[in-house]
Amino acid sequence: MRTPFVGGNWKMNTDRASGVALARAVAQGADACKGVEVAVFPPFPYLGTIADALQGSRVALGAQNLYHEKNGAFTGEVSAAMLIDCGVSAVLTGHSERRLVIGESDDLVNRKTRAALDAGLTCVLCIGETLDQRERGETDAVNERQLRAGLAGVRAEQAARLVIAYEPVWAIGTGRNASPADAQNAHARVRAVVASVFSREAAAAMRIIYGGSLKPDNAEALLARPDVDGGLVGGASLSASDFCAIVRAAETRVARPIA
Ligand code: PEP
Repeated sequence: MRTPFVGGNWKMNTDRASGVALARAVAQGADACKGVEVAVFPPFPYLGTIADALQGSRVALGAQNLYHEKNGAFTGEVSAAMLIDCGVSAVLTGHSERRLVIGESDDLVNRKTRAALDAGLTCVLCIGETLDQRERGETDAVNERQLRAGLAGVRAEQAARLVIAYEPVWAIGTGRNASPADAQNAHARVRAVVASVFSREAAAAMRIIYGGSLKPDNAEALLARPDVDGGLVGGASLSASDFCAIVRAAETRVARPIA
């Protein structure tokens, strides 16, 4: 069985008080959806406060980024151990905003992914094509390149703590989502690449989630597709009611048998 995973990427939004209120409301709303793994990814400064707000709930605390070194002269960076010390259990790597706005390379994404997994964190590795790449018919090639580069050196026994997020860049924050059929095609191809990197068994067990303008009104159709195992939610995760509606849509596909 693949347990659906739904993450809320708050990006650089909320303040301390609104973050706490959002976390509490998500914790309350997600409580009923026992078949879905739920995580929120608040901004760094609020991690400790949100950890307290989530105490006793089944919502995991995630971080939007980490640095791959353990400690030292890396001004402004945060290590996996520091995140764990703040109650974090999951982290995003390779988000397109970090690749395209901050300039992270495939190699850096790989170092971060390995550091996260080596430290025992769940790692949500994000991949996806830009609009230009899509229009040139390069979606699968880009996904495969980012996936193979991101997973280089990751050990097979670490695959269980890995989640892949397919996030077409043209769909992030634009209100334009991939069609359920396009998402399914991309996810099936991603699963095949995961099989060739690790094994068929690892690929069958891997959660491959969709991100890109996922909303309550499109979640059910997207999450009903056989290879879409949940979602990474940006804008809609800032509303507890919208985010929890997406979590509920994910629960409708609980207990999916592994193909
Ligand atoms: C994201 O930031 O990962 C994301 C999918 O954003 P949005 O839902 O706003 O498109």
